[in-house]
Amino acid sequence: MNREFYYRWELQLRANPAALWPYVADTNRFNRDTQLPAVTESAPVLPNARRQLRFQSKWLTANWTEDPFEWTYPTRFGVVRRYKNSPIKQMRVVLEMTRQPDGGTQLVYQVWALPRNLLGMAMIPIVIGQISARRFRAAFIQYDKLAQAGAVPVSLRHASHLSPGAKGRLETMKQRLAQAGAAPALVNRLVDLVQNADDLTLARLRPYLLADVWEAPRRDVLELFLLATRAGLLDFQWEILCPMCRGAEDRVHHTLAHVTSAAHCQTCNIDFEVNFDQSVELTFIPNPAIRAVKAPDFCVAGPQVTPHIAVQQLLAPQEQRVLSPVLEAGRYRLRTMRLPGAQHLQVTAVGQSQVNLRAEQDGWPSHELKLIPTPSLQLTNDTGEEQLLILERTVWSDQAATAAEVTTLQRFRDLFSDEALRPGEQISVGSLTILFTDLVNSTHLYREIGDATAFGVVMNHFDVLREAIDAEGGALVKTIGDAVMAVFRRPVSALRAILQAQQVLAAPPAGQRPLRLRAALHYGPSIAVSLNNQLDYFGSTINIAARLEKLSQGSDVILSDAVCDDPEVADFLTNQQAQRQLHVTPFSETLKGFQEECFSLWRVGRGEEVKG
Ligand SMILES: [Zn+2]
Repeated sequence: MNREFYYRWELQLRANPAALWPYVADTNRFNRDTQLPAVTESAPVLPNARRQLRFQSKWLTANWTEDPFEWTYPTRFGVVRRYKNSPIKQMRVVLEMTRQPDGGTQLVYQVWALPRNLLGMAMIPIVIGQISARRFRAAFIQYDKLAQAGAVPVSLRHASHLSPGAKGRLETMKQRLAQAGAAPALVNRLVDLVQNADDLTLARLRPYLLADVWEAPRRDVLELFLLATRAGLLDFQWEILCPMCRGAEDRVHHTLAHVTSAAHCQTCNIDFEVNFDQSVELTFIPNPAIRAVKAPDFCVAGPQVTPHIAVQQLLAPQEQRVLSPVLEAGRYRLRTMRLPGAQHLQVTAVGQSQVNLRAEQDGWPSHELKLIPTPSLQLTNDTGEEQLLILERTVWSDQAATAAEVTTLQRFRDLFSDEALRPGEQISVGSLTILFTDLVNSTHLYREIGDATAFGVVMNHFDVLREAIDAEGGALVKTIGDAVMAVFRRPVSALRAILQAQQVLAAPPAGQRPLRLRAALHYGPSIAVSLNNQLDYFGSTINIAARLEKLSQGSDVILSDAVCDDPEVADFLTNQQAQRQLHVTPFSETLKGFQEECFSLWRVGRGEEVKG
């Protein structure tokens, strides 16, 4: 039997384990930075997420089966690879990070390598013992610097890879973006990023994540990216995310017209329905005319591929394991790939410090367990087969610019009015706030001041509305005669927008006539469709909002109980009533087309209520 080689490298780093984790556990970046060749998946994913991979370099081709990565955030991960027809038979690596009293980290990297033959025995001490040892050390030292700075990785080894003529084009674009209203400081950061960041970073630019790094408002950065896409600096990537692993393999579309409501995940082997509020994320990549980004895979399943998973462990039948993860407060679930259902957990300061979690053939306990952020977890596989236990956060990252958010931005609709779904496609957008308005007495207006003048007045009133809607992060979807339909993500934004528009229209500059606007808001699930090649919405939420608008008398706003129940709206109304700016009157009504139902509604009016 061949002797197994063992290596252990230890480093003292300045950053803490949680700050180092996003860099160190990004095995795709690490393998690239340590000059391993790119890998390709050579066959379908096997049960329990075992993958069959290969790489090909000038002097070596290797095929292997890779066990699922195992990890416990933010202290430990490892993986086992079994090679076929290669001088190395098997390799196991484990990285461990221990927080030091001074706030830094002791990082220990261990490798166990089993040679298959004499060539392997000769290779391992050179390839792993010398070359990898040197490169790994350099990578960890670089990550320590990045982690301390909280920085976006930029290319340290290569000069810029700009396309021919790109320098000149970038200068023109900078000017155009500034003319379009983008903040010059943000424009410079984006251009700097496109020139200097490495390909792995540029292959998937997430505007909200960059906004957080740049300490800039998220909406400003998202709007800059939209402008930059229009200007030809960036391209869209609509990514379809699996509800389980949240991966987006082979599911990147360059236009919404290619997004369909039915999708499949290979890794999880499930079919799922696509929705705009969770499973479609808009990311960006530089336009090839500026910089051609090549980002092949160097590792496909490391912990950073699925950062919402805090713990992933592969347990043999009847195996037991004790772990000490660090968990952010919030809701989690523990599941396996083979058993149906999941154990629901909540991480809270008042939870249990020790928890036993068992995967059993006959299902999971139905009650939610509460645990503290630094629990001792005992995992047990009580079934007769191997199980991959996955402890994951259930909330979706708020750093994702979802399609639901992006498509309700006025800037998006203005710049990309042609971005629509394929005709006939219907995709859930989750809950939206719908605003309907209509001009009071417009027929009278046309008769009184003549068609041409009245038309101008109506057009101006659309501008006032559009400005108020845009300022609150909503989007005007369409005008129907003198009526407007707009959408917002947050009910309180819609309420503030319509109150602002009504106020401006009621008190115009001298010489112009005041206008009154009927308005209503409803909040609920909606469906995105394409109508006249534009993104539109339908569903009973929209129908109800349209009906509610008829109940408005002009200068007031009708709110459904779904809007009033929203905590932000409730706070806003309480405040405004306390300052005697607004008054709110409850009433109820049955609506046309919704005969059976009696709706609880609220009428929001300006100033104090007039009694009597
Ligand atoms: Zn999946």
